[in-house]
Amino acid sequence: MIFSNTTIKELHQALKAGTVTSKELYDASISAIKERDESIHAFIEVFDDQDTSVAVGDQILSGIPFAVKDNILFKGKKASVASKILENYVASYDSKIAEILKEQGAILIGRANMDDSAMGTSTESSYYGITRNPIDETRVPGGSSGGPAAAVAAGMVMYALGSDTGGSIRQPAACCGVVGLKPTYGSVSRRGLIALASSLDVIGPITHSVEDAETVFNVIHEYDELDNTSVPLDVRKTYQEKNVNNKVIGVPRSFLEVEGIHPDVLKNFNKSLEKMKQKGYSIVDVELPNIKHALAVYYIIQPAEASSNLARYDGIRYGLSEKGEDLIDGYKKTKTAGFGREVQRRIMLGTYVLSSGYHDEYYYKARQLRAKITEEIREVFETIDILATPTAPNVAFKFGEKKDPISLYLEDIFTVPYNLTGNPAISIPSGTNREGMPFGMHFTAPMFCENKLFAVGKDFENAILE
Ligand code: GLN
Repeated sequence: MIFSNTTIKELHQALKAGTVTSKELYDASISAIKERDESIHAFIEVFDDQDTSVAVGDQILSGIPFAVKDNILFKGKKASVASKILENYVASYDSKIAEILKEQGAILIGRANMDDSAMGTSTESSYYGITRNPIDETRVPGGSSGGPAAAVAAGMVMYALGSDTGGSIRQPAACCGVVGLKPTYGSVSRRGLIALASSLDVIGPITHSVEDAETVFNVIHEYDELDNTSVPLDVRKTYQEKNVNNKVIGVPRSFLEVEGIHPDVLKNFNKSLEKMKQKGYSIVDVELPNIKHALAVYYIIQPAEASSNLARYDGIRYGLSEKGEDLIDGYKKTKTAGFGREVQRRIMLGTYVLSSGYHDEYYYKARQLRAKITEEIREVFETIDILATPTAPNVAFKFGEKKDPISLYLEDIFTVPYNLTGNPAISIPSGTNREGMPFGMHFTAPMFCENKLFAVGKDFENAILE
């Protein structure tokens, strides 16, 4: 598989040297999709009639095929968030990330599948049907960026862009045995990302290697003056300068004793840390007293923000429009027909925790705890370089295995804390279980210190290979 055995930098060199052409890369991508995507269904739409005669320039991503999660706007292309409500929505402008990639001359192969409205952990809730895990097609690819992760893992594209609100890049990357990076909140523009929970959403890459994640991140982390949460580069630098560099990995031990974590996941995690010790890292236990509350906090803040963001799908301005007897009836019919079950559940939960009688009891408390957890994470990085946990408490599960919503939410336990705090985090393949299903190692760094994730991540990849 051409894309799985190389790096973006190598492809770029080969394109420049003329030993491969962008047309050949494009054809390789399309034929890999033809071969496997009927069963995997990583894509909602494939752009298979493109002119790839573009001259390959000096830009690192030019001429290289990639996939995009179906919630990032590319002008003139559909963007449905895999939901019925936006089924026929066509982007009227380019996201910042589309502007950057077009400028690079990167080749967009298609719109990748996801959970309806990016809420989920298994890609089982897409309006367009499930995506299968390329390693074992009886299992889920994770979610909500299951399509992008499966497309990369099956060697259909060189990299994919996903979004991560509570783990949606990292958890599917772990399930599919590839690398997933959630950049620091504020380092990649959200302009043109269809909003789920605006204080948590981040765009990031899913790749075959840590080096590729670094390559893509270095291209997409531009400051954007049209996104008021984008952080200027000189401010990011001040964070990078004041951080220790001591090769110390912190492990929040008591947090790993949560109910529902599979013993094999823990075994793999401890074994992987041992390998890092042999690489010269020291491993220390750290206390994060409130991190155990992160999941509960997330499932208040995320639905609250989602319920407010999704209010715009009213059948008047965007997407699906069902006629009603009057305005309210029209809203009801449109939303009932357009939103999937999980989306409806979150909207109800969100409006409940924001309602006047319960605002103080739930939403306000959750915000206080969020601030507390953020403070604890900031403090812990005064003594350690990087935090480590498994990416998820289980490997990719079988279709239909997790039916009740709570058991799906529990899959997010190790990923959501850093959406609440904004820290960058990465999931890296960490070997497989007896059935060949991959584990994920999850590293978190101080704010704007993606460079640390890449340095430690590369050491980790080497340690795992040895
Ligand atoms: N599993 C999480 C959820 O359902 C993640 C969502 C995301 O990151 N988009 O909320």
